[in-house]
Amino acid sequence: MSERIIIVEDEADIARVLERRLTYEGYRVEVAPDGETALKLIYDDPPALVLLDLTLPDIDGLIVTEELRAAKIDVPILMLTARDAIPDKVSGLDAGADDYMTKPFNTDELLAHVRALLRRTGAEKGSETLDFADLRLDPASRLAYRGERSINLTAKEYDLLEMFMRHPNQVLTRDQIFDRIWGYDFGGESNIIEVYIRYLRSKLEKEGEARLIDTVRGVGYVLRES
Ligand code: CA
Repeated sequence: MSERIIIVEDEADIARVLERRLTYEGYRVEVAPDGETALKLIYDDPPALVLLDLTLPDIDGLIVTEELRAAKIDVPILMLTARDAIPDKVSGLDAGADDYMTKPFNTDELLAHVRALLRRTGAEKGSETLDFADLRLDPASRLAYRGERSINLTAKEYDLLEMFMRHPNQVLTRDQIFDRIWGYDFGGESNIIEVYIRYLRSKLEKEGEARLIDTVRGVGYVLRES
């Protein structure tokens, strides 16, 4: 699957140029025109990379970066700053950005930075496992374990569990789950999520282990230790 990039840029011309070029290069691209929209998109589903303009109409790029880092979201951030604004570069990196480019930038050069950053973080991600309580997921191999026991999951069950593992202790609404795992708007009446949660629980609790996926009545589900 192609990597997803979020462009945070209020200048529509620049956003359009970047969006076109990155889409042409095969990335899946979303544009956020301000900081609040960006944070919402990123919290909902952290992308492979964020192209973040420093000066935004609401909260600036530094604050966006700080908020993400404070929330332990380690998505790679390439910050776009005004030409020669050295203090901006320094504070961008201090705030937790991974790299920066100055405007106006050369698009080929920007792409090289994007690829380098994705390579760097992709290599780190290769060995990353997701852990919660005695659950462990290995995204590279798509294998799941509860303690020493390996769990045999279907593709959809795996996707669902990975979504929970990436958002521990956070209530995921039925709409969010449906949108992410099934990829289209949720009509409201389908019980497919309930069915899959039941499958997952039966596999995760096969040896009588404690429940980790709780129902939040009327809202959705949460991965947590009770
Ligand atoms: Ca701007």
